[in-house]
Amino acid sequence: MALVIPIFIPHQGCPHRCLFCDQHRISGQTAPAASGQEIEATILAWLTRTRPERRARVEVAFYGGSFTCLPLARQEELLAAVHPFRQQGAVHAIRLSTRPDAIDDERLDLLVRHRVSTVELGAQSCDDSVLRLSGRGHDAAAIATAARLIQKQKICLGLQLMLGLPGENFRSLRHTAATVIRLRPDFVRIYPALVLRDSGLARLYRRGDYRPLSLGRALAWAVYLKKRFDCEGIGVVRMGLQPSVELAQALVAGPYHPAFGELVMARLMLTQTRRLLAGVPVGCRAALVIAARDQSIFRGLKSANLHRLRQLGLLDRFVLRTDPGQPRQTLRLAPENAIGRDGQWRHAQENQCGPLSAGRNALVNSTSSAATDNSANSHPCSVSTT
Ligand code: SF4
Repeated sequence: MALVIPIFIPHQGCPHRCLFCDQHRISGQTAPAASGQEIEATILAWLTRTRPERRARVEVAFYGGSFTCLPLARQEELLAAVHPFRQQGAVHAIRLSTRPDAIDDERLDLLVRHRVSTVELGAQSCDDSVLRLSGRGHDAAAIATAARLIQKQKICLGLQLMLGLPGENFRSLRHTAATVIRLRPDFVRIYPALVLRDSGLARLYRRGDYRPLSLGRALAWAVYLKKRFDCEGIGVVRMGLQPSVELAQALVAGPYHPAFGELVMARLMLTQTRRLLAGVPVGCRAALVIAARDQSIFRGLKSANLHRLRQLGLLDRFVLRTDPGQPRQTLRLAPENAIGRDGQWRHAQENQCGPLSAGRNALVNSTSSAATDNSANSHPCSVSTT
């Protein structure tokens, strides 16, 4: 995993105030943005205190705000501060986030000159009415235009999506999913819309004009998007906001959970487990194979998945195996281990459907350690919403 050095530019350059936004709180950063010299000092400090093996790949990420809304001279200053480290080979990549309507050829030329490798666009939704009601100040066409311009420059493209904005329903979510799939970003981030103190959404909420998603619905929508994007080979690199003290203090309402991404993954795992076990004859016990590091999402938070499987009468229908070769977040039935009580069952039911599918003929090992791993939700390009 890359070492990511975060540089915060909260709300800098952004002339907008989207209804949901309070970048200071979202990024967990309330201090003013750094000068070029301070950026150099920050990078140096990170490099100095990090072990050499963690420095194999180092990326500088400009978090918060809308980078390309800044005056060009300020963008130059920020990017130039990274330059000496690029030249020394101490920093390998730069990435940043911005608004779709703040991308054009001139700004991209600057990013290309400074070898910016990843741009994340705060798309939030691809439904024009949701964008309008959220005060975004641009439409879905602006997202498509910016995405194409970025891709034309061979810059890695990320899209950030927000669930449950004003006016969004499942139909518009489906439309957003289909549009994103057509745009073919390199990766996606998914955040539930939260009501933060002093935001426009908080005013609407207090007036009774906005109702956030429940946690259950936000999870269901995130599961839907994750499945769609997985099926299309579009990576979902994070789901849910990074917990921070500032965020917790500012939260007024909404589907916040510090382990939102893990909850989504656990739901997906439960769905796939049920689907696989549905094919196991009554009275038989199957071997389910997962990656060793997925044991915690298999169980679910506080073993919620196991409780659900018990309720469904499925808990005694399988034994769990781990396989070092099993891809993360995948699950498969190991037919060679599916043993009926009479010792007869040998159905060859490799299940290869959907995002939890896996390769065949993997060696099945047993392990005992349960590990919680967030790498499924993390990505070198972790930039806050814009
Ligand atoms: S979400 Fe992005 S574009 Fe909107 S106000 Fe915040 S920083 Fe600006």
